[in-house]
Amino acid sequence: MGAFNWFWKAMGAQSERNDASSKKIVAGSEERAVELAALDDAALAARARGVVRDGRIIDKVEFLAVLSVASARTVGLSPFNSQLQAVLRLLEGDVIHMATGEGKTLVGAMSATGFALTGQRVHVMTVNNYLAARDAEWMRPLVSFFGLSVAAVTEKLSAEERRRAYGADIVYAPVAEIGFDVLRDGQATSRADEVLSPAEVALVDEADSVLVDEALVPLVLAGSVKGQQSTGEITAAVAQLEEGRHYRIDSDRRNVFLTDAGAHALERALGVDSLYGDEALGNILVRVNLALHAKALLIRDVHYLVADGKVALIDASRGRVADLQRWPDGLHAAVEAKEGLSVSDGGRILDQITLQALMGRYPSVCGMTGTAVEAVDQLREFYDLRVSVIDRHKPLQRVDEPDRVYATAGEKNAAIVHAIVEIHATGQPVLIGTHDVAESELLTDALADHGIACQVLNAKNDEEEAGIIARAGERGRVTVSTQMAGRGTDIRLGEGVAELGGLVVIATSRHRSSRLDNQLRGRAGRQGDPGRTLTFVSLDDDVVRTGGGDTAFSAVPDEHGLIDSAKAREFVEHCQRVTEGQLLTIHAQTWKYNKLLADQREIIGTRRDNLLDTDRALAELRERAGQRAQKLAHLDEHVLADAARQIMLFHLDDEWAEHLAIMDDVRESIHLRAIAKETPIDEFHRIAIREFKDLAQRAVDRAVETFQTVDIDAEGAHLGDGGLARPSATWTYMVSDNPLAGGGNGALSTMESFFS
Ligand code: ADP
Repeated sequence: MGAFNWFWKAMGAQSERNDASSKKIVAGSEERAVELAALDDAALAARARGVVRDGRIIDKVEFLAVLSVASARTVGLSPFNSQLQAVLRLLEGDVIHMATGEGKTLVGAMSATGFALTGQRVHVMTVNNYLAARDAEWMRPLVSFFGLSVAAVTEKLSAEERRRAYGADIVYAPVAEIGFDVLRDGQATSRADEVLSPAEVALVDEADSVLVDEALVPLVLAGSVKGQQSTGEITAAVAQLEEGRHYRIDSDRRNVFLTDAGAHALERALGVDSLYGDEALGNILVRVNLALHAKALLIRDVHYLVADGKVALIDASRGRVADLQRWPDGLHAAVEAKEGLSVSDGGRILDQITLQALMGRYPSVCGMTGTAVEAVDQLREFYDLRVSVIDRHKPLQRVDEPDRVYATAGEKNAAIVHAIVEIHATGQPVLIGTHDVAESELLTDALADHGIACQVLNAKNDEEEAGIIARAGERGRVTVSTQMAGRGTDIRLGEGVAELGGLVVIATSRHRSSRLDNQLRGRAGRQGDPGRTLTFVSLDDDVVRTGGGDTAFSAVPDEHGLIDSAKAREFVEHCQRVTEGQLLTIHAQTWKYNKLLADQREIIGTRRDNLLDTDRALAELRERAGQRAQKLAHLDEHVLADAARQIMLFHLDDEWAEHLAIMDDVRESIHLRAIAKETPIDEFHRIAIREFKDLAQRAVDRAVETFQTVDIDAEGAHLGDGGLARPSATWTYMVSDNPLAGGGNGALSTMESFFS
């Protein structure tokens, strides 16, 4: 904890000033609320409208007082002063640091109501579908009280239902759903097909997860295509390679490299002159690299499961099966080939956007999380956001015990089981946070040997998870959960559990960032409850090995493998600080790759808007293909204009998808260029700019060709007849390349270490 305090002091001045002035406003609102309580509903709601002028809240004291009284009347909760303070900070556009269980749902709803009263539409971004639906329903009475509307967008809604929901003043939705809708709207060929309505404010729940951990996860829209190439031959050749002789894996298991011997072996097996020849780049070399990555870095049951003939990813930051996620296309196919499964049709990527780029579309972004202070640097650097710390409503009663450091993983695991058995014997509930599904299963088995049955969350279903996690505080419960599982759900203590000391949270190792450790710890000691957290570490752990790198550490453990020394604990802290630094660098560097494509996407978007909203397409085609336009002069002008629009949009979208495909190949092969002594990021930029430069012109040229040849009649342009149909089916997914996920997870991580 020392590190945060220091951190916070360095940031302090501004926050303390805000703190003092908001506390004064909150205190004032308490008095005002007494007076307002006498008003009837209509009069109270009218007072809220009275505090808004020119889209600004001019009397914050009155505003908070009105919200307090309305909240008590509608949802039965009288906001604590800490909550009102949080509302003020959110309305100022900060990310608030507010501990788990302190009532962020109400804070979010009150703030969203405030934004909506000033005429700004708000997207409240939740971590999953279940929470979007739950929170919108829970808070509806409060929002409606002011004559405002609220809706939830969830995965299962139809386009028409989405359109209606997005029309509400306050929209609760999982961040990925919003991103997918942005992508789908980006393919619309008329405004009527779009589902989104513009929103001014993004209010992000679990802001650090979304804005930092998952920021660079691309959301992808893919469309059907026929006839993908087979990866079988390459997979077979790569399967013959031996570690050490043909390829080497770097120490943090993020990258794998072919040795010269490996390259020669493959060249012989595949019958090519050189893997590194120019024509090979983006083709064989890319696929070889993917196959090697799949073989050497992706481990079955740690990174993925095979079930029902399919590869299912394990999301390492949540440690559970990630339903909607795939690796970048080529890698997914490579893993399928490695497992001897039929290689799925990856489709064609039509468009993609990262969460970080998605956030850039909102004029204002604010957020809430229990672990914002630990993300101060990232929030400032990547979003220009400030963090405000909100005091707890009741003081923290939780005890975080010092790390228990063991020499080996085996000794650590034995100690964890031993600790659980001991605690369980007292009836005190235990929640264990593991890193992956394989670890959860090993632990469950070990506990079963001791006659302890536990609840395991590696769930596929957020609602079910929420139900299980909600009961984790009951007497005698042992719950094994992974990082994110069940986030956003309250853990209440069962009867008599407070007397036993509350919930015990056990971390089976340190995470790569202390922020993730704190997310887990935050599950104990909610709202002044007693609680205790234990953290186990071994010198074999990922974090220690990666972060420890060149630092030598040795100590003499006791007979159980325990190294009970301050030095050992300091060493672990040091290792974690190193991995935190690495993550920050990776984020910054990866963003450099994404930023350029995000900017290019915006340019395409502007061009698209133009084509959709004006008759510019027809004007341009008339200019370039006047004769054909003349021949079609008998058609209704609207029909002709729309035909021109469809043709232009088709080629623009097609060229953009092509651009993404090219850049994807470049991205996957770019680190190989580092071997040829080129700077990867500069090279990537050079190619991206070169390829993009002519994109718009190429799209217009193709459109002119099409306009001259395709059938156009009173029904419009018959693009399908000319083989120019849009994909008949599209689907969306998230690419798993979260740098937090550790070793072997996608193409992005393959190139990252070249930067450091
Ligand atoms: P968080 O999202 O910050 O972890 P929640 O919004 O889930 O917390 O709220 C935690 C619990 O606190 C919920 O059961 C909620 O009903 C309760 N709660 C929130 N605000 C208040 C309040 N002002 N008074 C009483 N209970 C509250």
